[in-house]
Amino acid sequence: MDIDRALNILKENGYKYTGKREKMVNIFQEQERYLTAKECFDLMQVEYPGISFDTVYRNLSLFETLGIIETTEWDGERRYRFHCNRDLHHHHLICTKCGRTQMIKVCPMHAMFGKPENFQITGHKFEIYGICAECG
Ligand SMILES: [Zn+2]
Ligand SMILES: [Zn+2]
Ligand SMILES: [Zn+2]
Repeated sequence: MDIDRALNILKENGYKYTGKREKMVNIFQEQERYLTAKECFDLMQVEYPGISFDTVYRNLSLFETLGIIETTEWDGERRYRFHCNRDLHHHHLICTKCGRTQMIKVCPMHAMFGKPENFQITGHKFEIYGICAECG
């Protein structure tokens, strides 16, 4: 994902590119890591001190629905991050301290032998959690 693409997605879906949405897109671009809604809210407050948590949360949900950001969860909290480019199938190593990710091209689906019976696979999720070199 990048800022232009996010802008286009909003436009194509009939949403205005407001200053707040632009700021939020910029935050995800700059941070390049998973943020909790609270972290995103705190970063938004720097420029918009009066912004409500609800506004931030609603835009997070919108961005998620539109595929601008992707989400995951650890330590009982939902996290948001700029969506990867979809072109290349891959998975992530995720640092649970800073929320930064590293790409892994190995897919565990390749290690499955044969196909399950009476079940059609339509998708899968695979994430590895740990501590990155900078946080370790
Ligand atoms: Zn990725
Ligand atoms: Zn880290
Ligand atoms: Zn995979």
